[in-house]
Amino acid sequence: MTSPYLHINGVRKVFGSVVATDHVELEIKEGEFMTFLGPSGSGKSTTLYILAGFQDPTAGDILLRGRSILSTPSHKRNIGMVFQRYTLFPHLSVGENVAFPLRVRRLPKAEIDAKVKHALSLVRLAGFEDRMPANMSGGQQQRVALARALVYDPPVLLMDEPLSALDKKLREEIQLEIRRIHQETGVTILYVTHDQEEALRLSDRIAIFNHGKIEQVGTGSALYASPATHFVAGFIGDSA
Ligand code: ADP
Ligand code: MG
Repeated sequence: MTSPYLHINGVRKVFGSVVATDHVELEIKEGEFMTFLGPSGSGKSTTLYILAGFQDPTAGDILLRGRSILSTPSHKRNIGMVFQRYTLFPHLSVGENVAFPLRVRRLPKAEIDAKVKHALSLVRLAGFEDRMPANMSGGQQQRVALARALVYDPPVLLMDEPLSALDKKLREEIQLEIRRIHQETGVTILYVTHDQEEALRLSDRIAIFNHGKIEQVGTGSALYASPATHFVAGFIGDSA
């Protein structure tokens, strides 16, 4: 039997008396677009932070291709990240922001320039290298953050409510961009949202979080057609 690509194996995280996640168990396929959908406080971000290596689980393991990554420090996990307010470095140009992960990895300048150019074209910001973040819209800044997360071809990309600060029109526009990028690059995406419509629009499968646990996992249509609990029925049904 082959091991799953990414395995969140019984992850529990406790903060004092608060149980943030409780035995979260999930297998993600390579190239899959998996969304964590659930109300505020249900443990979605905590699960992403543990994947990213920002936090250690109280119990459980994270396995990539069958190997635990818990002892690998965050910056060596090769996991790209975009957060709601993942602020760009304001004193650096767009090109320098996107180049940052490559400079940390000490790539040669010509290679850095080529990769930055490619990443910016992926997010439809070709030629924006010399712009300063302060002179760009929120949507453009979030696309720069996306380019920075994608620039070193991470096999896994984590996005924690990346669009929730944007207005509806921009959100829908960037949702399309994210879908296209997923198709073009084949990157495995774990995406967090509390917006049912967004989850249904983007995901291959959705994991419904409630009180630190996954209540059900499935395609949007499967969850809609046969919800396992009242909670799932209420949560997924709302958007229709
Ligand atoms: P979500 O992203 O689904 O809104 P979180 O993962 O942020 O949920 O939070 C899950 C629970 O864990 C909440 O009750 C939250 O208050 C708690 N929590 C998260 N991070 C911390 C922390 N650093 N210290 C204490 N409690 C936390
Ligand atoms: Mg959160």
